[in-house]
Amino acid sequence: MTKKNLKSLSLLELQDFLASLGMKKYRSNQVYQWLYQKGAVSFDEMTNLSKEERAALNEKAYISSLILVKRQAASDGTEKYLFGLEDGNRIESVLIPDEDRLTLCISTQVGCAMDCKFCLTGKGGLKRNLEGHEIVDQVIAVRKLLSNPPLPPPSPPCQGGEKGEVRGDTGGLRITNIVLMGMGEPLSNYDNTIAALKILLDEKALNFSNRKVTLSTAGLIPQMEMLGKEGITVNLAISLNATTDDVRNKIMPINKKYPIKELVAACKKFPLPKRRRITFEYVMLKDINDTKEDGERLCKLLKGIRCKVNLIPFNEYSGSDFKRPDDETVEKFREILMGHHLMAITRKSKGAEILAACGQLRGSN
Ligand code: SAH
Repeated sequence: MTKKNLKSLSLLELQDFLASLGMKKYRSNQVYQWLYQKGAVSFDEMTNLSKEERAALNEKAYISSLILVKRQAASDGTEKYLFGLEDGNRIESVLIPDEDRLTLCISTQVGCAMDCKFCLTGKGGLKRNLEGHEIVDQVIAVRKLLSNPPLPPPSPPCQGGEKGEVRGDTGGLRITNIVLMGMGEPLSNYDNTIAALKILLDEKALNFSNRKVTLSTAGLIPQMEMLGKEGITVNLAISLNATTDDVRNKIMPINKKYPIKELVAACKKFPLPKRRRITFEYVMLKDINDTKEDGERLCKLLKGIRCKVNLIPFNEYSGSDFKRPDDETVEKFREILMGHHLMAITRKSKGAEILAACGQLRGSN
């Protein structure tokens, strides 16, 4: 019999599994806590279980974890992790420090089927979906790496404690935000993404606030509707990236299936909790979608939606067909949006020197 990966089970399924090994119900809470809050990698660590119970678990079950293949740091503090999966496939996660936030960008698929023309991840196509536990394990693995961070350079005493928010109990750095913006399209791996979100948000598991978790999609309308009914209120980001179907069809083939008008209508219908906004991501491509007319069309499209726009100047990579507009063009574009009372920020691209910026992840060195 193959051993059961305990992280592939929900809390209820874990209860049933432990019961099948003759363990009492309350044990499932303890084991769950070991798996997610303490990040245990072996049953021997679970010291509040009896020896017999640990032996039974060793025989019938195992605890999955990712293999860190490579850890790279950029000079702006961004870190990229290359992880190996059980079947030898590889994925990447990126940690982005920003003021008092420490955001982990995680992958939901090995590769991606969306084939967006500007995105490096899309070039290799889709290899497979990640399992729910493979999505969650990225958070657990990085959290573990952070509680033993390399010693920081000495800082002047007056700055001590200012970054207190990001320090975790162990004295290491604490991840404050999670974005599903790494490799893959989360909504085309719907069930596993939802299972992972439930673990990320469960207070008995990873205990992230739903305000600190953002799911980004290229605009899969039926799954957006499903997500709206799921009762999971994470932040929603839409990769819009163009203001006409003509351009969006060319750069994001998914637009042929779910064109802009329908996508915007789905956003209008999306059940946004009070005081939340949808984020629209807009990759700025020189001479493709960066004109004044685009700016004005974007304002018209988004009118009436509680939203903000993240402008992401295109991150170039070797062999990319697109160019990044100059800073002035980006700023002018932003001013058009702001002039129409659309909240817009330009996302500083981080980690580009180690190919850790948006759209640069490909799951290899
Ligand atoms: N598939 C999902 C999740 C990936 S998010 C989605 O499309 O939303 C990755 C974000 O990076 C998307 O907003 C995408 O438009 C953007 N992106 C991709 N390649 C990029 C590049 N080379 N430069 C800047 N942004 C890029």
